[in-house]
Amino acid sequence: MSKRTLFQFFHWYSLGDGRLWKEVAEKASGLAGIGFTDAWLPPAYKGASGPHSVGYDTYDLFDLGEFEQKGRKATKYGDRAAFEAACRALVDCGIRPIHDVVLNHKMGADEKEHVVVRRVNPEDRTQMEEESVDALAYTRFTFPGREGKYSQFIWDKQCFSGVDLIEEPSETGVYRLMNEYGEGQWNDEVDDELGNFDYLMGADVEFRNKAVYEELKYWGRWFSEQVPVAGFRLDAAKHIPAWFFKDWVGHMRDTIGTDLFVVAEYWHPDMTTLSNYLELVDKQLMLFDVALHHRFHDASKAGGDFDMRKIFDGSLVSSIPDHAVTLVDNHDTQPLQSLEATVEPWFKPLAYALILLREQGTPCVFYADLYGAEYSDISEDGSQHKVEMPAIGCLPKLVEARQRFANGPQLDHFDDPSVVGFVRQGTETEPGCVVVMSNGVAGQISVDLGQDLSNTVYIDYLGHHSTEVATDDQGIACFPTNGGSVSVWVRRDAL
Ligand code: CA
Repeated sequence: MSKRTLFQFFHWYSLGDGRLWKEVAEKASGLAGIGFTDAWLPPAYKGASGPHSVGYDTYDLFDLGEFEQKGRKATKYGDRAAFEAACRALVDCGIRPIHDVVLNHKMGADEKEHVVVRRVNPEDRTQMEEESVDALAYTRFTFPGREGKYSQFIWDKQCFSGVDLIEEPSETGVYRLMNEYGEGQWNDEVDDELGNFDYLMGADVEFRNKAVYEELKYWGRWFSEQVPVAGFRLDAAKHIPAWFFKDWVGHMRDTIGTDLFVVAEYWHPDMTTLSNYLELVDKQLMLFDVALHHRFHDASKAGGDFDMRKIFDGSLVSSIPDHAVTLVDNHDTQPLQSLEATVEPWFKPLAYALILLREQGTPCVFYADLYGAEYSDISEDGSQHKVEMPAIGCLPKLVEARQRFANGPQLDHFDDPSVVGFVRQGTETEPGCVVVMSNGVAGQISVDLGQDLSNTVYIDYLGHHSTEVATDDQGIACFPTNGGSVSVWVRRDAL
């Protein structure tokens, strides 16, 4: 049984014009060959910005690139037939498709409606003006291009809790929609940043409306009948009431399959917050290890000054490993994106070794790190920037090494501030490895592998070291690493 290894098959600037679904179909077998088991795909349905949408501005969940809506039939990634073909290609290669689900908000409404709103303090969402305002808001979604196919549900002002734009009077800000739900209050069981973080963007979905709730359950069932679904990545979880995802994920497991892999994007580095959230959702989900990503970012910026003994301090993978999806970068953290905290390229081989070769956590590899990425965009200072993210050369080998050598009990050697490593001892049938890395100068770690591995020759699977290492009569050897590098030592006879 292969160890679960996710590949995030996109980045923010993935090429448009329908190229991504084709690329998925083309690359599926190569990814399976390296050892990937799951592919996280971007949102497949129509976003408000149509063919330019990355997918996080949900317009119509039922339009998988099938209807003439928002300027084109296809999404940025391709049309529905290409999406189906991409999913089939993954499944044919033994890779499980994980789908991105953006339920927090909708954008690009078809019509304005008369609404009653209350102005909200954007810095403290629990503070609202006493006085209500009559205005117009973009809250009616009729999906004229789809003409009721698959679902006749019309979204209107009863389906949303807030907006950020009104007309007559024309204003932008944060506005609570006064409707039948919630007695003027936001949804609870959301993150408490800004008082209450229910509202993020667009027309914020009102989960307390039973009709909305049933429609989103129906959509999940419908979606799983259109394409193979092995799991979901749930967007913006900290803005969605925990009770909703507890119910929704339970319903999906009951109707689609008990073994669904579900990871929520609850973007928060604090372990108390994450563990409280896991309790609220009955531990039915995995969460991204945001704290570990921040450690990697900090370590990559600090160079040799970072104390590598503390690399896992405060991380999800060290406190609740069975619920941790570990990552190095993603489409939000890459340069010029909203959560930009990119890990410097020199450190990425070390970071990936730490998530791919250890016993704990479910690793997720980022597209731009495997294949590289080049793009340009406007940064916060208003100027155009060109970005080149290099492919991390040893990454395919590290993924292979995960499947071949990351076996058996783990023994840590985190004793030096710079040179750290660990041993996977292997099992009776599968070989182990010795991983050594340094964020400073070259170094080595003395490892006792035991009498069974005496006089055994090891080579660096990554090829960073051309020398061989042999254990002595007791099974002891010093395993070296170059400076700012990582080596994965494996038995020569296991190759
Ligand atoms: Ca919300």
